[in-house]
Amino acid sequence: MKSVGFTPVPERITRLVEIAYNLWWTWHPEAQELFQRIDARLWEDVYHNPVLFLREVRQSSLDQAANDPEFIRAYHNTLTSFDEYQVFGQTWFKQTYPDKLNKPIAYFSAEFGLHESLPIYSGGLGVLSGDHTKEASDLGLPFIGVGFLYPQGYFKQVITPNGDQEAIYVKVRFAEVPARPAYTADGKEVVVSVSLPARGDLPDRQVQAKVYQIQVGNVPLYLMDTDIHPNAPEDRELSARLYGGDEEMRLAQEKVLGVGGVRALRAMGIEPAVFHMNEGHSAFLVLERARELVAQGMTFAQAAEIVRKTSVFTTHTPVPAGHDAFPFHMMDRYFPHWHESLKLSREDFLNLARQDHGWGPTFSMTVLALKMSGRHNGVSKLHGEVSRKMWSWLWPNKSVEDVPITYVTNGIHTETWLAPELKALYDQYLDKDWVLRIDDQAMWNGVNQIPDEVLWEVMNQLRARLVNFVRLRTRQRLTRLRMHPNDIQATVDLLNPKALTIGFARRFATYKRATLLFHDTERLKRIVYGGGTRPVQFVFAGKAHPRDEPGKNFIREVYHRSHEAGLAGHLIFIEDYDMNVAREMVAGVDVWQNTPRRPLEASGTSGQKAGLNGSPNFSILDGWWAEGFNGKNGWAIGSDAEYESEEARNHADATSLYEILENEIVPAFYDRDAKGVPHKWIKLVKESIRTVAPQFSMTRMIKEYTNNLYVPSME
Ligand SMILES: *Cc1c(COP(=O)(O)O)cnc(C)c1O
Repeated sequence: MKSVGFTPVPERITRLVEIAYNLWWTWHPEAQELFQRIDARLWEDVYHNPVLFLREVRQSSLDQAANDPEFIRAYHNTLTSFDEYQVFGQTWFKQTYPDKLNKPIAYFSAEFGLHESLPIYSGGLGVLSGDHTKEASDLGLPFIGVGFLYPQGYFKQVITPNGDQEAIYVKVRFAEVPARPAYTADGKEVVVSVSLPARGDLPDRQVQAKVYQIQVGNVPLYLMDTDIHPNAPEDRELSARLYGGDEEMRLAQEKVLGVGGVRALRAMGIEPAVFHMNEGHSAFLVLERARELVAQGMTFAQAAEIVRKTSVFTTHTPVPAGHDAFPFHMMDRYFPHWHESLKLSREDFLNLARQDHGWGPTFSMTVLALKMSGRHNGVSKLHGEVSRKMWSWLWPNKSVEDVPITYVTNGIHTETWLAPELKALYDQYLDKDWVLRIDDQAMWNGVNQIPDEVLWEVMNQLRARLVNFVRLRTRQRLTRLRMHPNDIQATVDLLNPKALTIGFARRFATYKRATLLFHDTERLKRIVYGGGTRPVQFVFAGKAHPRDEPGKNFIREVYHRSHEAGLAGHLIFIEDYDMNVAREMVAGVDVWQNTPRRPLEASGTSGQKAGLNGSPNFSILDGWWAEGFNGKNGWAIGSDAEYESEEARNHADATSLYEILENEIVPAFYDRDAKGVPHKWIKLVKESIRTVAPQFSMTRMIKEYTNNLYVPSME
């Protein structure tokens, strides 16, 4: 495999190019180490992007690696694993459903969070899609992803000296990401077109989307981009950014995602047996599929029945305003004549997704997806309940409990999120084939075999690594801001690598209540000071949506608190939360804190990443933690009581938070034996790993989706 613009790779190590172009490397640390060994500094400078790395690396570094026997040994070992993986051994799916291998599952998502070097995700939804894709590959599902390759992706966050969030969009050059054009069976690049209505100076027109392929293990992702000739400049911007633009832009994007996505699969001759809509953004795909079937001679009712039987829909949002819905007059413009193609009246067409609000009827993507899919689910047990209540009006003849919305609780892709230092311990103390049995609860009892002092040593290393990471990031920020050299120098002893470290990283939406911690600042100051001998420190990170002013105010408050006397040095905000920051944080902190307003956290997954890495959760019993907490593997903040007001609830939850910190968390962490090992603490850590790792793994999750949703839809 050769690529233009690469430094010529010596023959002996030429397959590095193949590794760079398969995101398999993102969950195999040994593959990442190959690039790191060649030039560790460059690996950091290109932000762990192997394609960019191979464009920038010096010829002499490659030559040196090619002549280093140790490098060659590591290279061959990695390629052996890579080849074994690709050859599709006895995967779970192949063993369980040998007759279903030719029934592709097409998974549509507006974002895919695969790695920090591919910024086409904004947060939890995208990371979930990325993890879903990786696990589908690991388990051998006949799986295909469909989405967008956003040239400007999601924004990079910088914080000004005043604590304001600024959003910076960096244009990604596709030659620098592991994307290649997708091809039709007869060797042509895949370009699909979707009609869009006149707007401003633009006439009615066809917008073209070029399709790229990104390989994730054995799973192909097909990602569309409209930044091509001959689209008008406005249309070239259509897929530029994730969740950018106004309502028109959003409707246009969603039409391209759903309708264009189906056309892209058709152009490549792919006939999915199941279509999975991950959130409502892609729901227009059901209209395109029904249109195809009606064009073949069916009535709408017949077409709809087939579409329903073969469609799965996952809803993620317990907040009504979080569901996309468009006014009817916009639908008339964006889908003119569609009711005729579907052999429906205009009213019946619009009623497919009608949701009435005080201000009038809208076409709701969630309603469309719920009505036109046969199987639908929420993303945790509690979120399933909330969703049944929220959408029960669609099933007027059923009681709320009988509303047909089930749940599959989210999970995480273990190998993506597990720190390599801990993986080495698990390799040593768990069963040899543990990676193939991640959802086997009994297997994880092996964690209890790890000697306390050995596990503690790794916890200390990981915390120290996080502290170094925070220092480096802070130094880079202050340098960028041209701060005084003394301030920059002072970052060398920012935070304390031995102090109890609590992580809080998430989207700064107000319901997540990032500032609950500051409810009683004086009490918090006493806690972080810890009498001088039992200090506590907090690491914060997270982005607010650029148009979410209250969310940005929360960031400002956290930022200002981090400079307040009594908190400074104990509280730090790291810029630009992304998968890299997340990985460092979930591995390095001792405790993972989350304070959503119940039941607004549909699931959450960051706490699952922390739990897997030996950081017990300290959270409101919401989302996944309502299922995960067992009384011994972390702490529950607050209660599920009803409160008269939001203030009363915040007060009760904050009081609970301080009490648990003072009476349970701090004492357990600092209760040491003669050698400094906190046995009580390590017991909690082990219990967290043992219970969270199997139950909240993507392995468990994908098996549930397959057994309960995908396979029944194939039959
Ligand atoms: C895991 C992850 C999320 C999801 O976190 P929750 O707050 O638990 O929903 C969001 N963003 C990034 C970068 C992540 O890695």
